[in-house]
Amino acid sequence: MILVIAEHRDGKLNRATLETIAAAQNAGGPIKVAVFGSGVDAVAKEVGAADVAEVITIDDAALKDYTADGMVMALEQLIAAEKPERIFLPHTYQTRDFAPALAARINRPLVTDCVAVKGGSYVRPMFQGKLQADVSVDGPHMATFQIGAYRADAMKTGGSASARKASVTIDASKIRQKPEAPFKEAKQAVDLSQAERIVSVGRGIKSQEHLQLAQQLAQAIGAEIAASRPICDAGWLPMDRQIGSSGQTVAPKLYVALGISGAIQHLVGMKGARTIVAINKDPEAPIFEIADYGIAGDLFEVVPAMIAELNK
Ligand SMILES: Cc1cc2nc3c(=O)[nH]c(=O)nc-3n(C[C@H](O)[C@H](O)[C@H](O)COP(=O)(O)OP(=O)(O)OC[C@H]3O[C@@H](n4cnc5c(N)ncnc54)[C@H](O)[C@@H]3O)c2cc1C
Repeated sequence: MILVIAEHRDGKLNRATLETIAAAQNAGGPIKVAVFGSGVDAVAKEVGAADVAEVITIDDAALKDYTADGMVMALEQLIAAEKPERIFLPHTYQTRDFAPALAARINRPLVTDCVAVKGGSYVRPMFQGKLQADVSVDGPHMATFQIGAYRADAMKTGGSASARKASVTIDASKIRQKPEAPFKEAKQAVDLSQAERIVSVGRGIKSQEHLQLAQQLAQAIGAEIAASRPICDAGWLPMDRQIGSSGQTVAPKLYVALGISGAIQHLVGMKGARTIVAINKDPEAPIFEIADYGIAGDLFEVVPAMIAELNK
């Protein structure tokens, strides 16, 4: 049995949970999904639409705000009761925070940042995505899945899993972390991992004032703006817009790359996009190797033409 750990914040399900359920469906065998928190019935109902055997809720006031100690304490008991062979988690910041502690506590191997599961083994990138390693593990274990490794809309639905409450005992006095209000960036801050469309700019945009061209295109198709590292390093866009190995990993339905060469450190952050459109004046640019649609041309000619056509 595979136990998938759902993630949500204030009752809003993180889409990466659905991707992780899709990974579990791909691996095969019965799946249970565990939802932790306080007042989680709505989230449980939402994941219950997936084709899974059961949804388990762990509802406790001490789990209202996420803490690593609270999660480890609750999960240790749930895992002892349910005895899952495998535990799948989305590779989010929250998972990164508690999963290693959980693995140590329950003495199980943890395979992180997987991009695929093939039967009993996992594929995970190494050395900034230069190599892909096949990892197999003997016995019960845990695995985390990269955002975009599996598609949320490829998750099989039609399930009518009932939600069952599991009882665990949380000793709130043993939770060492004191949660504060979650960190919020400036007002416009955006979680690009949840964006459906992204227009991303690279050094080909030449100067900061030309960003407005990309912004117009983004507006015409209802997309978020993102960038390669040099653009954020230069301060033309905030760091939270950077895509790649030292930025965000995204998996939108549409990713439009303007003047981005396609360095491996950029590709690892966006190759999970369903449709990639690249505009680059160098026909040999590596971005074209992964693009579904490529336009070898000057973005300062192509993009205005696209905007004019879209606005018609
Ligand atoms: C440890 C490490 C971590 C890194 N992390 C990241 C990361 O997270 N994200 C990231 O993006 N990079 C990262 N990098 C940097 C990465 O290696 C590349 O340097 C970077 O992605 C290149 O950005 P770029 O494609 O915008 O620029 P360039 O490689 O300079 O490419 C610009 C492209 O624009 C095209 N162009 C120029 N003018 C036009 C025009 N008028 N019309 C159309 N096309 C045009 C050119 O043909 C070229 O292909 C990292 C590097 C290291 C070493």
